[in-house]
Amino acid sequence: MPFNFFNMIKIKTREEIEIMRESALIVSKTLGMLAKEVKPGVSTLYLDKLAEDFIRAEGAIPGFLGLYDFPNTLCMSPNSQVVHGIPNKKPLIEGDIISIDCGALKNGFYGDHAYTFAVGEIADETKKLLEVTRESLYVGIREFKAGNRVGDVGYAIQKFTEDHGYGVVRELVGHGLGREMHEDPEMPNYGKRGRGKKFTEGMVVAIEPMTNLGTHKIRQHADGWTITTLDNKPSAHFEHDVAIVNGKPELLSTFKYVHEALGIETNEEDEFRADS
Ligand code: MG
Ligand code: MG
Repeated sequence: MPFNFFNMIKIKTREEIEIMRESALIVSKTLGMLAKEVKPGVSTLYLDKLAEDFIRAEGAIPGFLGLYDFPNTLCMSPNSQVVHGIPNKKPLIEGDIISIDCGALKNGFYGDHAYTFAVGEIADETKKLLEVTRESLYVGIREFKAGNRVGDVGYAIQKFTEDHGYGVVRELVGHGLGREMHEDPEMPNYGKRGRGKKFTEGMVVAIEPMTNLGTHKIRQHADGWTITTLDNKPSAHFEHDVAIVNGKPELLSTFKYVHEALGIETNEEDEFRADS
């Protein structure tokens, strides 16, 4: 088909971007609230309930609940689970990692971002995986600017990740974001420079590296949702919502609430702020 109405990038106005910033910040604050609650002994279902109540109190609707029939507010993916894990009553234990992906819908627009948390003390090699995956997110965001292409972001993330010896998940990708949770374009975490759709002013995307300590290969479970690494080694997931404003990437989401809760000091987001 030469022209597809359902597969077109929807450019956002400045006003729409500000509405989206509000939706993103609700997710950012939800993750910040959860950062204080993630600890050994709590279940992912308990955290899910906290998140649902928090999002509704902010005047928003959980973005994932009911989307493609997903049963909960949060995608909760511990350890070797990559993404899309369903919350359950099993308590987290010391040494686990838990990837929490959260969406919120307010004023007709979605926010959608994710953070992988350590549960108590974790192994050094897993700590490194989390650091590198989070860093790779910014490496990718830096390439999301007017005139660049989808492949430039994917290439940058893939190169950075594979240089550290980790596996880049192929089957799951980032995406355009707006009135729909998943809009055009798809944003793979792998690719070739100069390939794919061109970025322009007013595009908004979710960039979300999913990085495996071992093989990039994955396995889909029979529940239709849960996805784990083929070698059962840990997987990390970090995601931000980003708009192109004045030709440059501008973060709509922030990890500052998470990092305040965890006592992490970093200036990693500074170059992507509106006033930078
Ligand atoms: Mg997400
Ligand atoms: Mg997403």
